Amino acid sequence: MGGDASLLLFLSDMSVFASSSFVPSRQHRLRDLMAKRRLDFLLVSNPKNIFYLTGFRGSTGIAVLGLEQAVLFVDPRYTLQAREQSAGVDVHEVRRPLLSAAGQWLIRRRTRNVGYDDAHLTCSGFSELQRRVPKATLRASGGLVEDLRLVKDSGEIDCIRQAGQITAAVFSEVRGTLRPGLRESDLAAEIEYRMRLHGAEGAAFETIVASGERSAWPHARASSKLLKEDELVIFDLGAILQGYAADMTRTVFLGRPSRRVERLYAAVLMAQEQAIKAVRPATACGKVDFTARRALSGRALDRYFTHSTGHGVGLDIHEKPRLARKEETLLEPGCVVSVEPGVYIEGLGGVRIEDTVLVTEIGAEVLTPLSKDDWIIS
Ligand code: ZN
Ligand code: ZN
Repeated sequence: MGGDASLLLFLSDMSVFASSSFVPSRQHRLRDLMAKRRLDFLLVSNPKNIFYLTGFRGSTGIAVLGLEQAVLFVDPRYTLQAREQSAGVDVHEVRRPLLSAAGQWLIRRRTRNVGYDDAHLTCSGFSELQRRVPKATLRASGGLVEDLRLVKDSGEIDCIRQAGQITAAVFSEVRGTLRPGLRESDLAAEIEYRMRLHGAEGAAFETIVASGERSAWPHARASSKLLKEDELVIFDLGAILQGYAADMTRTVFLGRPSRRVERLYAAVLMAQEQAIKAVRPATACGKVDFTARRALSGRALDRYFTHSTGHGVGLDIHEKPRLARKEETLLEPGCVVSVEPGVYIEGLGGVRIEDTVLVTEIGAEVLTPLSKDDWIIS
């Protein structure tokens, strides 16, 4: 696999992008936000937010960030890992429920306002916290860290860029093998296997391979169906690297497409390209969605476009911002979004084309660089 030499080269250099070196600036930005909202402490329980703010990638832990200090509570399974991976926090190993340890630590600091992640903490967790810090005011602060995550730093962008390159390389390899008779689920397995060979941690989400009439289901799972001659096939895939995802969809046709299918593909491609052109700083997310919809309505296809145009991509495969109707959030340099218009016609099939796109100072950079023109496999 001669073409992989450059990939291996940059993967060997990856420690450069270790998340922990970006932790101080992330914590700094969080503290600015906490001060504005008059929070003395923020209790973080979502593992992805903990990773973002501390570098620790374990599946369980609680981080408490104050305006001047930060601690990470972990159980003994994670002590060594937390010491190795984290930065900017004191690691506390605890042998009892993490919340009760965090609560006790907060009491000693005579805390007044404590933010917690209401999108993640369970009701019983909340009650426990309330019991532990009865004098503090607990303030629902879900979305605070996610707001920071909306604009990626250079470490995150490097990870997503590499995940995007792997995603594109894998699909380019698999596309060369496509023919009638292959099973959808075998192709999904092949894609995910090759992601690992290319140095990814795996697939960021379950790979979609949907052929024939099933391609009209926007979120079809790969099934035992065999690919047939004269069918549309949608592939939706994304590698994950150092916790960061990429997201890409390509549609192909096996055989010779009818004029109708050709027109469908050309319309979706035009909508996607116009939407990518609309991606630039200070543009409202809703405007990008509108651009894709307008392009499809020009071909009377907008009623078959049944989902939003895109979503943020990062530690989560779907995160802020949403590129959806009337969404007023303004894009900023460092936002990473998917742009993925699609049309789905019952009985005929679907076409979706998706790239992961970085908002730059002047416009957009596609992070899943792979041609969309050679979609006919005959
Ligand atoms: Zn996708
Ligand atoms: Zn997507």
